[in-house]
Amino acid sequence: MSICKFIQKLLNVKSFSIKGFTFHNWYKELWLDVKPFKNGALCPQCMRRGKIISTLDKPRVWRDIPVCGRIVFFTYCPREIFCRTHGRVQEYIPWAASHARVTHRFEYSLLIYSSIMTQKAAAQLLKISQSTLSDLLHRVITRTRQGHKIKDLKTIGIDEISYCKGHKYATIVYDLDRSCVVWVGKGKASETIDSFFSNELSRYQRKRIVSGCCDMSETFIGAIEKWCPNATLVLDRFHIVKALNEAVDEVRKEEWRKADKYNRKALKGLRWLLYRHSSNRTEEDTKALKSLYMGGNRRIHRAWILKDEFEQFWDFKDQGSAKDFLDDWCKTANKSRLESIKTFVKTIRKHTHRLVPFVKNRLTNAVAEGINRVIKIVKNRASGFRNLHAFADLIYLTVGDLDIPAQIPARFHAL
Ligand SMILES: [Zn+2]
Repeated sequence: MSICKFIQKLLNVKSFSIKGFTFHNWYKELWLDVKPFKNGALCPQCMRRGKIISTLDKPRVWRDIPVCGRIVFFTYCPREIFCRTHGRVQEYIPWAASHARVTHRFEYSLLIYSSIMTQKAAAQLLKISQSTLSDLLHRVITRTRQGHKIKDLKTIGIDEISYCKGHKYATIVYDLDRSCVVWVGKGKASETIDSFFSNELSRYQRKRIVSGCCDMSETFIGAIEKWCPNATLVLDRFHIVKALNEAVDEVRKEEWRKADKYNRKALKGLRWLLYRHSSNRTEEDTKALKSLYMGGNRRIHRAWILKDEFEQFWDFKDQGSAKDFLDDWCKTANKSRLESIKTFVKTIRKHTHRLVPFVKNRLTNAVAEGINRVIKIVKNRASGFRNLHAFADLIYLTVGDLDIPAQIPARFHAL
């Protein structure tokens, strides 16, 4: 076996051959002269052989994944060919995408590493600088997503997420059936979400959306009702429960402010107890909460009872009785003379028709919350993003609707 053949086998090079090699920079870099099989000269679009017109006088260089600490480069002078269908084109390069300066498997490693570790670690493994890595990542992801169309979107979820240390917001659109992110947009204003519906979806696609889920933000509610004529909007259970919990907590805070030193002792540790769902409470917790009534903290007790009663709403099966329950609950709650609860009642009354459909389709943004957890991990790993591009790239890579690494030609992957 010749030494070039040996290197070819060692580096798992299959669809092209190695003609020679040199070491540079005190053996830190390995430069390989490569050549497509059977003299190449294929048209990159139709893969038919073309007539060679000229050869580039300066060789092009591609970077490959490092091997045993050595940086590997491929060099080759691509030729210009004439294809009968596509005219003058540069010949097909089997090891890299056209115009790319790195090989397919470098791109593949880049994507896999970036989705599982910090960018700093990925840059170290690939022996490139962090800024080069994020540039390359952006280029690869933009290229693989080019011309990508959202397919078969039936259940839409919309939420916002903060980045840049909570100073900036992005709107995220989910496909709740397939549990993935279909779109990331800058800002959380109505222009952002409007641009999604008008640019990313056709009129036919918008009509096909049967249900939508979002928080109580007027922007998102308005957008779904405006753009999706056939969709049933359901407000997200998670956000409703959160709003009620906050209202109950507001009552607790008020009492805390009023209480003296002795009474404050009785209120200690109540915060998390009040947040807990009844099914997660121990008997002692319930006892502690019941003792509030006897202890004179009747306002907190009342708020707690109301909160517990509201939990029943999520178990209804019939829309009519769910609506009746909600009306009754609102009436009782309004008599409670608790300001924060009354504000919550106002919200519920306003959105009753957007809450009741829940009992039928049981739609929540729970999937989205799960995805958001992954996004948070990605965000923490990068220790903040300066711009949305870098953040959106990683969202598309980790929880997007397209399997981005699979878009890279697989012929010589082998990580
Ligand atoms: Zn062609």
